[in-house]
Amino acid sequence: MSAGTGTRVDVRILTRAELALRGVRVDSLRRPDGAGPSGDDHVLVDGANAALPTNPSSPYSVRDGRVWLGDEDTGLTLTPVRRPRFYDLTTADGVPYEKIARLHGADVLATTVVQTCIRYAEADRCRFCTIEEALASGSTVAAKTPEQLAEVAEAAVRLDGVRQMVLTTGTTTGPDRGARTLARSVRAIRAAVPDLPVQVQCEPPADLAWIGELHVAGATAIGIHVESLDDRVRRAWMPGKATVPLARYDEAWDEAVRVFGRNRVSTYLLVGLGEDPDELVAGAGRLIDRGVYPFVVPFRPMRGTLAARDGVGAPDPAVLAYVTERVVARLRAAGMSGADQQAGCAACGACSVLRPAGG
Ligand code: SF4
Repeated sequence: MSAGTGTRVDVRILTRAELALRGVRVDSLRRPDGAGPSGDDHVLVDGANAALPTNPSSPYSVRDGRVWLGDEDTGLTLTPVRRPRFYDLTTADGVPYEKIARLHGADVLATTVVQTCIRYAEADRCRFCTIEEALASGSTVAAKTPEQLAEVAEAAVRLDGVRQMVLTTGTTTGPDRGARTLARSVRAIRAAVPDLPVQVQCEPPADLAWIGELHVAGATAIGIHVESLDDRVRRAWMPGKATVPLARYDEAWDEAVRVFGRNRVSTYLLVGLGEDPDELVAGAGRLIDRGVYPFVVPFRPMRGTLAARDGVGAPDPAVLAYVTERVVARLRAAGMSGADQQAGCAACGACSVLRPAGG
Protein backbone atom coordinates (compact mmCIF):
# COMPACT_ATOMS: atom_id res chain seq x y z
CA MET A 1 0.00 0.00 0.00
CA SER A 2 1.28 3.44 -0.81
CA ALA A 3 -1.34 5.57 0.94
CA GLY A 4 -1.10 6.90 4.45
CA THR A 5 0.16 9.83 6.42
CA GLY A 6 2.42 11.90 4.22
CA THR A 7 0.95 10.58 0.97
CA ARG A 8 0.60 13.34 -1.62
CA VAL A 9 -3.04 14.01 -2.36
CA ASP A 10 -4.94 17.02 -3.65
CA VAL A 11 -5.32 19.34 -0.66
CA ARG A 12 -8.93 20.21 -1.56
CA ILE A 13 -9.89 16.53 -1.56
CA LEU A 14 -8.01 16.06 1.71
CA THR A 15 -9.98 18.92 3.30
CA ARG A 16 -13.25 17.33 2.20
CA ALA A 17 -12.10 13.94 3.52
CA GLU A 18 -11.19 15.50 6.88
CA LEU A 19 -14.52 17.29 7.05
CA ALA A 20 -16.38 14.04 6.25
CA LEU A 21 -14.56 12.15 9.00
CA ARG A 22 -13.91 14.78 11.68
CA GLY A 23 -17.16 16.65 11.13
CA VAL A 24 -17.86 20.12 12.44
CA ARG A 25 -18.21 21.34 16.01
CA VAL A 26 -21.58 20.49 17.43
CA ASP A 27 -22.96 24.03 17.70
CA SER A 28 -22.20 24.67 14.04
CA LEU A 29 -25.24 22.89 12.62
CA ARG A 30 -27.90 24.48 14.80
CA ARG A 31 -30.50 26.25 12.75
CA PRO A 32 -30.63 30.03 13.13
CA ASP A 33 -34.04 29.84 14.81
CA GLY A 34 -32.58 27.63 17.56
CA ALA A 35 -35.25 24.97 17.18
CA GLY A 36 -32.75 22.11 17.28
CA PRO A 37 -30.30 20.52 14.92
CA SER A 38 -31.07 20.60 11.24
CA GLY A 39 -32.11 17.31 9.63
CA ASP A 40 -29.69 14.75 11.10
CA ASP A 41 -26.58 16.83 10.40
CA HIS A 42 -27.44 17.11 6.72
CA VAL A 43 -26.00 20.28 5.25
CA LEU A 44 -24.97 21.79 1.96
CA VAL A 45 -21.24 22.27 1.52
CA ASP A 46 -20.55 24.55 -1.44
CA GLY A 47 -24.17 23.99 -2.43
CA ALA A 48 -23.97 20.17 -2.58
CA ASN A 49 -25.46 17.58 -0.21
CA ALA A 50 -23.14 16.56 2.61
CA ALA A 51 -23.78 14.38 5.67
CA LEU A 52 -21.32 15.54 8.31
CA PRO A 53 -20.89 14.21 11.82
CA THR A 54 -21.32 16.71 14.63
CA ASN A 55 -18.21 16.51 16.76
CA PRO A 56 -17.45 18.84 19.67
CA SER A 57 -13.71 18.23 19.26
CA SER A 58 -13.57 18.77 15.49
CA PRO A 59 -10.97 21.33 14.38
CA TYR A 60 -13.59 22.61 11.90
CA SER A 61 -16.19 25.20 12.86
CA VAL A 62 -18.71 27.34 10.98
CA ARG A 63 -18.88 31.14 11.08
CA ASP A 64 -20.91 33.38 8.82
CA GLY A 65 -21.88 30.41 6.65
CA ARG A 66 -18.24 29.43 6.00
CA VAL A 67 -16.10 26.54 7.22
CA TRP A 68 -13.06 27.51 9.31
CA LEU A 69 -10.06 25.45 10.34
CA GLY A 70 -8.97 27.34 13.44
CA ASP A 71 -8.51 30.94 12.17
CA GLU A 72 -8.16 29.86 8.56
CA ASP A 73 -11.07 30.21 6.12
CA THR A 74 -11.21 26.96 4.12
CA GLY A 75 -13.10 28.73 1.35
CA LEU A 76 -16.02 26.27 1.71
CA THR A 77 -19.55 27.47 2.38
CA LEU A 78 -21.88 25.51 4.67
CA THR A 79 -25.64 25.89 4.80
CA PRO A 80 -27.84 23.87 7.17
CA VAL A 81 -30.78 22.06 5.59
CA ARG A 82 -34.03 23.34 7.05
CA ARG A 83 -36.54 20.98 8.59
CA PRO A 84 -38.88 19.89 5.78
CA ARG A 85 -42.57 20.74 5.95
CA PHE A 86 -43.69 17.17 5.34
CA TYR A 87 -42.30 16.18 8.77
CA ASP A 88 -45.28 17.96 10.34
CA LEU A 89 -47.84 15.70 8.64
CA THR A 90 -49.37 12.43 9.82
CA THR A 91 -51.01 9.61 7.83
CA ALA A 92 -54.71 8.95 8.14
CA ASP A 93 -53.85 5.94 10.33
CA GLY A 94 -51.83 8.12 12.69
CA VAL A 95 -48.17 7.57 11.69
CA PRO A 96 -46.03 10.72 11.47
CA TYR A 97 -44.59 11.08 7.95
CA GLU A 98 -41.19 11.56 9.56
CA LYS A 99 -41.29 7.91 10.70
CA ILE A 100 -42.01 6.70 7.17
CA ALA A 101 -39.30 8.52 5.21
CA ARG A 102 -36.60 11.11 5.96
CA LEU A 103 -35.06 13.96 4.06
CA HIS A 104 -31.41 13.31 3.18
CA GLY A 105 -29.41 16.28 1.99
CA ALA A 106 -31.66 19.02 0.64
CA ASP A 107 -33.66 17.07 -1.91
CA VAL A 108 -33.50 13.30 -1.36
CA LEU A 109 -36.28 11.29 0.28
CA ALA A 110 -34.93 8.11 1.85
CA THR A 111 -36.50 5.19 3.63
CA THR A 112 -35.86 1.64 4.78
CA VAL A 113 -38.99 -0.13 3.60
CA VAL A 114 -38.45 -3.17 5.83
CA GLN A 115 -36.53 -2.13 8.92
CA THR A 116 -35.58 -5.66 10.01
CA CYS A 117 -32.93 -8.00 8.63
CA ILE A 118 -32.47 -11.77 8.71
CA ARG A 119 -28.80 -11.11 9.34
CA TYR A 120 -29.21 -9.03 12.50
CA ALA A 121 -28.27 -11.73 15.03
CA GLU A 122 -24.92 -10.64 16.43
CA ALA A 123 -23.02 -13.55 14.82
CA ASP A 124 -24.22 -12.55 11.31
CA ARG A 125 -24.71 -8.80 11.54
CA CYS A 126 -22.68 -6.34 9.45
CA ARG A 127 -20.54 -4.58 12.03
CA PHE A 128 -21.28 -1.10 10.59
CA CYS A 129 -25.07 -1.54 10.51
CA THR A 130 -27.76 0.00 12.75
CA ILE A 131 -30.90 -1.02 10.83
CA GLU A 132 -32.83 -2.30 13.85
CA GLU A 133 -31.50 0.29 16.31
CA ALA A 134 -33.70 2.98 14.73
CA LEU A 135 -36.63 0.68 15.31
CA ALA A 136 -35.75 0.19 18.96
CA SER A 137 -35.48 3.95 19.44
CA GLY A 138 -39.02 4.46 18.08
CA SER A 139 -37.88 6.85 15.34
CA THR A 140 -39.36 4.68 12.59
CA VAL A 141 -41.79 1.82 11.99
CA ALA A 142 -40.86 -1.75 11.04
CA ALA A 143 -42.63 -1.92 7.69
CA LYS A 144 -43.85 0.91 5.50
CA THR A 145 -46.80 0.14 3.24
CA PRO A 146 -46.77 1.13 -0.44
CA GLU A 147 -49.72 3.44 0.26
CA GLN A 148 -47.84 5.22 3.07
CA LEU A 149 -44.72 5.63 0.93
CA ALA A 150 -46.72 7.04 -1.98
CA GLU A 151 -48.51 9.50 0.34
CA VAL A 152 -45.27 10.76 1.88
CA ALA A 153 -43.46 10.96 -1.47
CA GLU A 154 -46.24 13.06 -2.98
CA ALA A 155 -46.15 15.48 -0.04
CA ALA A 156 -42.35 15.69 0.02
CA VAL A 157 -42.25 16.57 -3.67
CA ARG A 158 -45.08 19.09 -3.40
CA LEU A 159 -44.06 20.80 -0.14
CA ASP A 160 -40.27 20.46 -0.07
CA GLY A 161 -39.07 20.09 -3.64
CA VAL A 162 -37.71 16.55 -3.23
CA ARG A 163 -36.09 15.43 -6.50
CA GLN A 164 -35.32 11.76 -5.99
CA MET A 165 -36.09 8.87 -3.65
CA VAL A 166 -34.04 6.02 -2.22
CA LEU A 167 -35.67 2.78 -1.03
CA THR A 168 -33.53 0.33 0.87
CA THR A 169 -34.53 -2.78 2.79
CA GLY A 170 -33.23 -5.21 5.33
CA THR A 171 -32.72 -8.65 3.82
CA THR A 172 -35.77 -10.88 3.98
CA THR A 173 -35.98 -14.69 3.98
CA GLY A 174 -37.58 -15.30 0.57
CA PRO A 175 -35.62 -15.81 -2.68
CA ASP A 176 -36.41 -12.21 -3.67
CA ARG A 177 -34.35 -10.93 -0.66
CA GLY A 178 -36.77 -8.02 -0.25
CA ALA A 179 -37.19 -7.14 -3.94
CA ARG A 180 -40.88 -8.10 -3.97
CA THR A 181 -41.74 -5.44 -1.37
CA LEU A 182 -39.51 -2.90 -3.12
CA ALA A 183 -41.29 -3.52 -6.43
CA ARG A 184 -44.73 -3.01 -4.85
CA SER A 185 -43.48 0.17 -3.21
CA VAL A 186 -41.96 1.63 -6.39
CA ARG A 187 -45.18 0.94 -8.29
CA ALA A 188 -47.25 2.85 -5.77
CA ILE A 189 -44.78 5.77 -5.57
CA ARG A 190 -44.54 6.14 -9.35
CA ALA A 191 -48.33 6.05 -9.63
CA ALA A 192 -48.55 8.97 -7.16
CA VAL A 193 -45.53 10.95 -8.44
CA PRO A 194 -44.72 9.70 -11.96
CA ASP A 195 -41.73 11.98 -12.49
CA LEU A 196 -39.87 11.16 -9.27
CA PRO A 197 -36.73 9.07 -9.97
CA VAL A 198 -36.49 6.18 -7.50
CA GLN A 199 -33.52 3.99 -6.64
CA VAL A 200 -33.93 0.58 -4.99
CA GLN A 201 -31.27 -1.15 -2.91
CA CYS A 202 -31.13 -4.87 -2.06
CA GLU A 203 -28.86 -7.91 -1.88
CA PRO A 204 -28.50 -10.03 -5.03
CA PRO A 205 -31.86 -11.83 -5.24
CA ALA A 206 -31.62 -15.64 -5.40
CA ASP A 207 -33.76 -15.36 -8.53
CA LEU A 208 -32.17 -12.67 -10.73
CA ALA A 209 -35.49 -12.17 -12.56
CA TRP A 210 -36.38 -9.88 -9.66
CA ILE A 211 -33.96 -7.30 -11.05
CA GLY A 212 -36.08 -7.06 -14.19
CA GLU A 213 -39.24 -6.89 -12.06
CA LEU A 214 -37.86 -3.87 -10.19
CA HIS A 215 -37.16 -2.14 -13.49
CA VAL A 216 -40.62 -2.93 -14.84
CA ALA A 217 -42.13 -1.60 -11.60
CA GLY A 218 -40.57 1.78 -12.38
CA ALA A 219 -37.22 1.90 -10.56
CA THR A 220 -34.75 4.27 -12.22
CA ALA A 221 -31.57 2.84 -10.71
CA ILE A 222 -30.47 0.01 -8.44
CA GLY A 223 -27.84 -0.36 -5.74
CA ILE A 224 -26.51 -3.85 -5.02
CA HIS A 225 -24.12 -3.16 -2.19
CA VAL A 226 -21.11 -5.36 -1.52
CA GLU A 227 -19.19 -2.91 0.76
CA SER A 228 -15.90 -4.76 0.21
CA LEU A 229 -14.38 -6.84 -2.58
CA ASP A 230 -11.92 -8.48 -0.18
CA ASP A 231 -13.24 -11.81 1.12
CA ARG A 232 -11.09 -11.59 4.25
CA VAL A 233 -12.69 -8.21 5.07
CA ARG A 234 -16.15 -9.49 4.18
CA ARG A 235 -15.88 -12.43 6.56
CA ALA A 236 -14.63 -10.20 9.39
CA TRP A 237 -17.11 -7.34 8.92
CA MET A 238 -20.17 -8.96 7.31
CA PRO A 239 -20.25 -12.60 8.35
CA GLY A 240 -23.86 -13.04 7.17
CA LYS A 241 -23.56 -11.26 3.84
CA ALA A 242 -20.17 -12.88 3.18
CA THR A 243 -21.99 -16.20 2.70
CA VAL A 244 -23.16 -14.76 -0.63
CA PRO A 245 -20.13 -15.35 -2.90
CA LEU A 246 -18.61 -12.42 -4.79
CA ALA A 247 -19.32 -14.31 -8.01
CA ARG A 248 -23.02 -13.95 -7.20
CA TYR A 249 -22.59 -10.17 -6.93
CA ASP A 250 -20.86 -10.18 -10.33
CA GLU A 251 -23.86 -12.00 -11.85
CA ALA A 252 -26.33 -9.62 -10.20
CA TRP A 253 -24.42 -6.51 -11.30
CA ASP A 254 -24.19 -7.79 -14.88
CA GLU A 255 -27.89 -8.56 -14.98
CA ALA A 256 -28.67 -5.14 -13.47
CA VAL A 257 -26.52 -3.35 -16.07
CA ARG A 258 -28.23 -5.35 -18.81
CA VAL A 259 -31.67 -4.33 -17.50
CA PHE A 260 -31.12 -0.79 -16.12
CA GLY A 261 -28.23 0.24 -18.35
CA ARG A 262 -24.66 1.36 -17.76
CA ASN A 263 -24.23 3.73 -14.79
CA ARG A 264 -27.71 3.05 -13.44
CA VAL A 265 -26.24 0.43 -11.14
CA SER A 266 -24.07 1.14 -8.11
CA THR A 267 -22.47 -0.46 -5.11
CA TYR A 268 -20.97 0.82 -1.88
CA LEU A 269 -17.26 0.31 -1.23
CA LEU A 270 -16.28 1.23 2.33
CA VAL A 271 -12.88 2.69 3.15
CA GLY A 272 -11.53 1.81 6.58
CA LEU A 273 -12.37 -1.88 7.02
CA GLY A 274 -8.74 -2.95 6.86
CA GLU A 275 -8.57 -3.40 3.09
CA ASP A 276 -5.56 -2.53 0.95
CA PRO A 277 -6.27 0.91 -0.61
CA ASP A 278 -4.62 0.04 -3.92
CA GLU A 279 -6.64 -3.18 -4.18
CA LEU A 280 -9.79 -1.20 -3.42
CA VAL A 281 -8.96 1.22 -6.25
CA ALA A 282 -8.25 -1.69 -8.63
CA GLY A 283 -11.57 -3.33 -7.67
CA ALA A 284 -13.41 -0.04 -8.23
CA GLY A 285 -11.82 0.10 -11.68
CA ARG A 286 -13.19 -3.36 -12.51
CA LEU A 287 -16.67 -2.26 -11.38
CA ILE A 288 -16.47 0.83 -13.58
CA ASP A 289 -15.45 -1.37 -16.53
CA ARG A 290 -18.64 -3.41 -16.11
CA GLY A 291 -20.80 -0.25 -15.88
CA VAL A 292 -21.26 -0.20 -12.09
CA TYR A 293 -20.63 3.02 -10.14
CA PRO A 294 -18.47 2.31 -7.06
CA PHE A 295 -19.80 4.61 -4.34
CA VAL A 296 -16.71 4.98 -2.18
CA VAL A 297 -17.68 5.93 1.35
CA PRO A 298 -15.66 6.19 4.56
CA PHE A 299 -16.55 3.83 7.38
CA ARG A 300 -17.91 5.89 10.29
CA PRO A 301 -18.24 4.28 13.71
CA MET A 302 -21.89 5.17 14.23
CA ARG A 303 -23.47 4.82 17.64
CA GLY A 304 -25.27 1.49 17.97
CA THR A 305 -22.94 -0.45 15.65
CA LEU A 306 -20.94 -3.46 16.79
CA ALA A 307 -17.83 -1.71 15.47
CA ALA A 308 -18.40 1.35 17.68
CA ARG A 309 -19.06 -0.91 20.66
CA ASP A 310 -15.72 -2.60 19.98
CA GLY A 311 -13.88 0.74 19.71
CA VAL A 312 -13.09 0.62 15.97
CA GLY A 313 -12.23 4.13 14.74
CA ALA A 314 -12.76 5.96 11.46
CA PRO A 315 -10.07 5.71 8.75
CA ASP A 316 -7.24 8.18 8.21
CA PRO A 317 -8.58 11.04 6.05
CA ALA A 318 -5.40 10.83 3.94
CA VAL A 319 -6.29 7.26 2.95
CA LEU A 320 -9.86 8.30 2.05
CA ALA A 321 -8.51 11.19 -0.04
CA TYR A 322 -5.97 8.89 -1.74
CA VAL A 323 -8.63 6.34 -2.73
CA THR A 324 -11.16 9.01 -3.72
CA GLU A 325 -8.74 10.81 -6.00
CA ARG A 326 -7.83 7.62 -7.86
CA VAL A 327 -11.39 6.32 -8.19
CA VAL A 328 -12.53 9.72 -9.49
CA ALA A 329 -9.79 9.61 -12.16
CA ARG A 330 -11.13 6.24 -13.33
CA LEU A 331 -14.75 7.44 -13.27
CA ARG A 332 -13.86 10.47 -15.36
CA ALA A 333 -11.90 8.39 -17.85
CA ALA A 334 -15.00 6.21 -18.26
CA GLY A 335 -17.33 9.22 -18.55
CA MET A 336 -19.29 8.18 -15.45
CA SER A 337 -20.70 10.57 -12.84
CA GLY A 338 -22.87 10.01 -9.79
CA ALA A 339 -25.42 12.53 -11.04
CA ASP A 340 -26.10 10.36 -14.10
CA GLN A 341 -27.57 7.66 -11.87
CA GLN A 342 -30.51 10.10 -11.44
CA ALA A 343 -31.53 8.53 -8.14
CA GLY A 344 -29.77 6.88 -5.24
CA CYS A 345 -26.77 7.45 -3.05
CA ALA A 346 -24.35 8.05 -5.92
CA ALA A 347 -26.71 10.74 -7.27
CA CYS A 348 -27.05 12.28 -3.81
CA GLY A 349 -23.39 12.03 -2.92
CA ALA A 350 -23.73 13.29 0.67
CA CYS A 351 -22.04 10.33 2.35
CA SER A 352 -19.00 10.33 0.05
CA VAL A 353 -16.26 12.67 -1.10
CA LEU A 354 -16.47 11.51 -4.72
CA ARG A 355 -18.81 14.27 -5.91
CA PRO A 356 -16.77 17.26 -4.69
CA ALA A 357 -13.67 15.55 -6.11
CA GLY A 358 -15.29 15.46 -9.56
CA GLY A 359 -16.97 12.01 -9.61
S1 SF4 B 1 -25.67 9.20 0.07
FE1 SF4 B 1 -27.44 7.82 0.43
S2 SF4 B 1 -27.47 7.45 2.64
FE2 SF4 B 1 -26.12 9.21 2.26
S3 SF4 B 1 -27.46 10.99 2.54
FE3 SF4 B 1 -27.45 10.52 0.36
S4 SF4 B 1 -29.18 9.15 0.04
FE4 SF4 B 1 -28.81 9.22 2.25
